[in-house]
Amino acid sequence: MKKAMTTQCFMCQSHVPFGNGNYQAKRILPWDIMVCDTCRQGNWDGIVPSSYPHFVKHLQDCGLSFELNKKGWIEWPSVTLVRGPSN
Ligand SMILES: [Zn+2]
Repeated sequence: MKKAMTTQCFMCQSHVPFGNGNYQAKRILPWDIMVCDTCRQGNWDGIVPSSYPHFVKHLQDCGLSFELNKKGWIEWPSVTLVRGPSN
């Protein structure tokens, strides 16, 4: 009996497979959150702050640094973009 291993995405709150060779989320280390691949790919060019108020609150509450791009969207930490947005 294998127990389904999942993790919860911080952005969309959904539970995604995370274990047994099926990892559909990534840990964003600088922000200490898990983000599912769907959210990463759907927001690869930046996170719209008004779409994720709880996320903005997390950054502010934890005193985490972030940068806004030209559109005023939150940039992903550069360390997570090493492998590109579509892998
Ligand atoms: Zn998600």
